[in-house]
Amino acid sequence: MTIRIGVIGTGAIGADHARRITQTLSGGQVVAVNDVNRAQAEAVVARLGLDAKVYDNGHDLIKAEDVDAVLVTSWGPTHEEFVLSAIAAGKYVFCEKPLATTARGCLNIVEAEVAAGKRLVQVGFMRPYDKGYQLLKQAIDAGQIGEPLMVHCAHRNPTVPDGYVTSMAIVDTAIHELDVLRWLLDDDYKTVQVVYPKRTRHRFEHLADPQIVLIETQKGVRIDLEIFVNCQYGYDIQCSVVGETGVANLPEPQSLLLRTDAKLATNILTDWKQRFIEAYDIELQDFIKGIEQQQLSGPTAWDGYAAAVAADACVLAQESGQIEPVVMAERPTFYNK
Ligand code: NAP
Repeated sequence: MTIRIGVIGTGAIGADHARRITQTLSGGQVVAVNDVNRAQAEAVVARLGLDAKVYDNGHDLIKAEDVDAVLVTSWGPTHEEFVLSAIAAGKYVFCEKPLATTARGCLNIVEAEVAAGKRLVQVGFMRPYDKGYQLLKQAIDAGQIGEPLMVHCAHRNPTVPDGYVTSMAIVDTAIHELDVLRWLLDDDYKTVQVVYPKRTRHRFEHLADPQIVLIETQKGVRIDLEIFVNCQYGYDIQCSVVGETGVANLPEPQSLLLRTDAKLATNILTDWKQRFIEAYDIELQDFIKGIEQQQLSGPTAWDGYAAAVAADACVLAQESGQIEPVVMAERPTFYNK
């Protein structure tokens, strides 16, 4: 059985996911594409040699009889309408983050999915598919470090462009930690605060960089998350979980260990696309497998909602300087594991 997939939004990640499905993964075929920029969609079809119809409208693609499942990889503000449309059509939908640009929008999707009575939505949070984070989770779940008490994290980029503004440190950057740490700790957030250290000189004037997000979870774990997006030296993701009897650290990406010139050295990645490249493959393969088995198991619409609520609280905390509560709706039993 081949899952026939339609891709809405053939920009950077949409085109890359289409390539994955076509060249790397098994069980799926891209049969339809759409982009507001039709020429771009046509160019992706030509470049990848797809046997795919180009649609002028994402909703028409979703309704097409020969489309079994949809990837929503368009601009964030369009995600909600396309995901709701896919649910209405009873089709499986993989939506890149953000699920919607507001927590209310995410909740609309949650409510539509619950009403449909079947899991149809997977959100494109790929870090839970990363082998390093999976090792961390296995160690925590097996009790190898006792109960987790504290987590120290860092998310560092070498540089960001002029268009990157202070709130993007949360909604574009920290959002991945906000997702993966809930999953890692099997916990929800209680409060957040954002504090600003001395600012780096290597930034555009309008940006506060670095920032530290301080989080308290419902179980009382304390998380400090450094966001430093002009660190100059590389793309560096750190996560260290301190438990009652030990510490578990996220493994570094594999790299040659080089002894030369009186130094012992390993490389640090500089391109974020490389850091979780395998996780992107695994998450999409899992989506296709979930459709084959009629049971999705990846990040849910509820996870998308939870990340949005936490991000909203962090953006508020950026502005207020206060400790802000993270207030979520009651989780529908539909999403119980
Ligand atoms: P991008 O290169 O700008 O691609 C988005 C594409 O969607 C563009 O071609 C855009 O066309 C098109 N589009 C906009 N509105 C549309 C509509 N109504 N119908 C159809 N197509 C529409 O952006 P990107 O980097 O691929 O990011 C896309 C999404 O993926 C974002 O939500 C981003 O946050 C997410 N993302 C996630 C990760 C991750 O790590 N999980 C990584 C990268 C991106 P125009 O350019 O002509 O407007």
